[in-house]
Amino acid sequence: MADIKATRQQTKLHNRDLVIRTIFDNEPISRADIARTTKLTRTTVSEIVARLMGEGLVEEVGQGSSIGGKRSILLSLVADSRYLIGVNIAQENFIGSIVNLRGEIKDTVSIPVQGNDGHKALELIYGIIDRLFAKGWLPVVGIGVGAPGLINSRDGVIINAVNLDWQDLPLAGLLENRYQVPVTVLNDSQATAMGEYVYGEHGSDKNLVVVNVRHGIGAGILIDGRLFQGDDGGAGEIGHVVVEEDGLVCRCGQRGCLETVASAKAVCQKARVLYKSPEPVSLDMLLSRFESGDAVTRQIVVNSAHFLGKAIGSLIGVLNIKKIVLTGDMPRFGPDWLAAVKESIMKSALNRLTHETTIEVGQLDYRACILGASAYLLQDSYSILFTQPEK
Ligand SMILES: [Zn+2]
Repeated sequence: MADIKATRQQTKLHNRDLVIRTIFDNEPISRADIARTTKLTRTTVSEIVARLMGEGLVEEVGQGSSIGGKRSILLSLVADSRYLIGVNIAQENFIGSIVNLRGEIKDTVSIPVQGNDGHKALELIYGIIDRLFAKGWLPVVGIGVGAPGLINSRDGVIINAVNLDWQDLPLAGLLENRYQVPVTVLNDSQATAMGEYVYGEHGSDKNLVVVNVRHGIGAGILIDGRLFQGDDGGAGEIGHVVVEEDGLVCRCGQRGCLETVASAKAVCQKARVLYKSPEPVSLDMLLSRFESGDAVTRQIVVNSAHFLGKAIGSLIGVLNIKKIVLTGDMPRFGPDWLAAVKESIMKSALNRLTHETTIEVGQLDYRACILGASAYLLQDSYSILFTQPEK
C-alpha cells in the first residue's frame, strides 16, 4: 500500500510540475490550452491551477479570444512570487544576484577576488550570499553557482579549480547547510550556455553549443533543451584539447591546448612577444590596435580564430548541432574575428553539416552565468517552488 501511495504522490507532483512548466513556456495560457498541451484532463488541470494560485505562483491575467461564445481566462506566472540566487565565481570579481522567476535581476552584489586562497574564496562566497539574503527579497528558494574548473554537478562537488585552489570541495553541501535551501553547482561555461539558452534570444532551437572564450575556453552543450554534462561533468572542456603538438605549456600541464593559442590570455601573450613589449599587453590595447588595422595584431587575432574554428568544427562533426553561440571576451573583436572563426569552421567539418551552421554572439555577458546557474535549479523539476508537499 505504501508503494501505491508513493507512486500516486509522484504522479501528482509530476502533473503539477508539467502544468507549471507549460505555463512558464506558453504564458499567458488558458486552462483549456494547458489541458490540450499536457494531455491532462480539464478537471485535473483546474485542480492543479487552483492549488498553484493558492500558493501565489500563478495568477489570472485577463481574457483570451472567444471560443464558441465563451471567453477563456488566461493564466500567467507571478514572476516575483519566488526568488533564486545566482552566483558567478569564475570572474575577477565574484558576482551574485537575486533573480526572479522570469530571469529578471533584482539586486546584485560584487566582491573583488585577490590571489587564490581557497579558504578565503569560500568566505567571499558566504559574504556575497549573506549580503544578498540581507536585502530582504523573500522567499529565496534556491542557490545556483557557476564555478570554474571540473565540477561534479550531481553531488555539487568542485573536483578541481586551479585558480581558486580547490580540490574535492563539497560546495553545494556547505551552502545547503548554511542557508537551508537547495543548491546546485555548475561549471561556468555550462552555466553560461544554460543562461543563453533560457534567456538569450537565439530562436527556438533546442540544440545549442555555447563557446565561452575568455581567459580560458570552455563550451556548454544543450541537447533537446537539457544541459549535456558527460560522464564526469567535463563535457565541453574544449579548452584543453591539444591543437598544436609541442606548443606552449598550458596551465593544465599539457602542451599546445586550444587555450594556449585561442584564449584572450593567449592572444595577449602572443602580442607581447611580437610587439617586443616589456610590459604585459592588455586586451583593450590589443583591441584598439586591431581596430586601427595594425597588420601584426590582425594576424594574431585571425590566427587565434582559426584554431578556435577548427575545434568548433570538430564539435559540429560529432554533434551535428546547427546553432553556435560565441561569448566571453574574444567576441569583442567583432565581425572580422567572427568571420575568421566561421571560415575555419567551414573548412573543418563535412560541408553538409557546416553550411547551415549559424554563429551568433552571446547577449547576456557575465549575467548569462548567473541566470543559467539559477535556471539550472529548475531544469529537472519545479518542486523547489512549491510550499505545500503532496499528500
Ligand atoms: Zn590545457
